[in-house]
Amino acid sequence: MSYVLARKWRPHRFDQLIGQTATITALQNALQQNRLHHAYLFTGTRGVGKTTLARILAMCLNCETTLTDTPCGTCSTCLSIQKGHNIDVMEVDAASRTKVEDTREILDNVQYSPNQSRFKVYIIDEVHMLSTHSFNALLKTLEEPPAHVKFLLATTDPQKLPATVLSRCMQFHLEALDTSTLSNYFQHVLTTEQIDFEPDAIDSIAHAASGSVRDGLSLLDQAIALCHETSITTAHMTQMLGSISDKQIHTLLSLILSKNAKAVIELGQSLVRLGAQCQTILKQLLSTLHAVACHISVPEFDSPIQLDAVPHWTERTATEHIEWIHLLYQIALSGQRDIPLAPTPQQGLEITLLRMTTLMPEMPTDTQLPWCQTQNSSPPNPPSKQTSAPQTSAQHTAPSTQTPTTPPPAKAPPISQNTDQQDAHAPTPQIPFDAEHWHQWVQKLSLPGMTQSLAEHTGWHQYQDNELTLTLHKKHQPLITSTRIQHIETALNQLGHTGIRVHIHSSEDNPDSLQQHKQTLEAEKPKKALAALEEDQALQTLLDAFDGKLNQPTLKDPQKTTT
Ligand SMILES: [Zn+2]
Repeated sequence: MSYVLARKWRPHRFDQLIGQTATITALQNALQQNRLHHAYLFTGTRGVGKTTLARILAMCLNCETTLTDTPCGTCSTCLSIQKGHNIDVMEVDAASRTKVEDTREILDNVQYSPNQSRFKVYIIDEVHMLSTHSFNALLKTLEEPPAHVKFLLATTDPQKLPATVLSRCMQFHLEALDTSTLSNYFQHVLTTEQIDFEPDAIDSIAHAASGSVRDGLSLLDQAIALCHETSITTAHMTQMLGSISDKQIHTLLSLILSKNAKAVIELGQSLVRLGAQCQTILKQLLSTLHAVACHISVPEFDSPIQLDAVPHWTERTATEHIEWIHLLYQIALSGQRDIPLAPTPQQGLEITLLRMTTLMPEMPTDTQLPWCQTQNSSPPNPPSKQTSAPQTSAQHTAPSTQTPTTPPPAKAPPISQNTDQQDAHAPTPQIPFDAEHWHQWVQKLSLPGMTQSLAEHTGWHQYQDNELTLTLHKKHQPLITSTRIQHIETALNQLGHTGIRVHIHSSEDNPDSLQQHKQTLEAEKPKKALAALEEDQALQTLLDAFDGKLNQPTLKDPQKTTT
């Protein structure tokens, strides 16, 4: 059996196309209401279905049943359009026929009625390749098209079309397909073709297809040939594509996070042995780190990766240590740049992975962070496989005893030194939970970056039946997200307020927030400085002697000024 999947699986109806729903709906509406434009332009990267869509539209226009949005696919017109030899549907590849004579020849008999069908359809692929003269010839026809003519133009590069042509076409942009859509489609194809596969392997193909169905199907052909119609495995795909599966990338990251240099190098070497390319491994690491960073900083950003998929790495640890992710990204990026300079690519890869492993600070795994036990009692970090990483495994064992391991981010601002030490676990009985003490609670919460900022801007409104209502000035409203509110709830949970619900309302007034408090303190500093200076006997003597004055606006914090 020979496979040319792209041909075999070429859609012949709108509902067989994947993605492009907006374009399809618009075309179907136009067909149903018989409000057809005389020229359509389909744009988008290669392999997303531009000419396929044009052919389907040609069938809709000329199907012998009727003008329809669901061509029968069985009449002789439909069949001949599918096979590409219908005399009323002219398919032209502009890339090979750029000269004006070619265009004239094509357009010469535009004025004559179609032979058998309703419309004469011109499908011009890669239309941007036409010469200026050819465009002018085309333009004349586009300006006054006979009623029986339809132009279906396709291009990857609409910028190169003259504005005069663009303005006479109805333009549809076809989007590149995302990886998961492609992967699902390819898996559907393989299931129908009764070919076994590992889903991870198909994900790799979907990645490599970069949005193009046709490219993906060609790779699938290649994979089927390589695997001799047996199962398509990740190992095969590593060999074929030089890339590795998401799962392997996650394992690699996890080993880097656990600072397990030996295992990192071993995995790197085995991947290279399997045929993975060093540049590609770093590229995939970069994409994963990028996805994590975006997801953490902008929770609404739909991350293509599940953080939980990386052992050692939960949403929380990643959130709290976002700067490490940026560090790893930077190292991988410079590693990628340096690979061509290294004696061999493999050395370049290994030194980059080692650098990431070495420069990575100690990762407090969840078990070290006391609050995480209450938060998710899911298996405390699997002792990452072959972990020979001594420090992490040691810490795994004794989570509950108060080990002097990393206390929750020691960022606690200075105002409440008295409370820092004694209790990462226990609730804090000594601070009353009320409006007056809200500032201190905010400082104790150990929240990730932007959530901390959000909390610092809130003021206490009321607390009743385990529902805490906070207020926030409306200019800070964009800081409110459900994830951040959850973070605050979780943090309060860990400090003893089990099951608390937090609500944040925006208000016109500035609430009495920690930020406000800090600003007031800041504003008072010059006054304090002035008072201190005015009490300074020596300075006063000096001022009297020289008839001097204090330059008040330049006064600073008394601790910092040197007199
Ligand atoms: Zn038909």
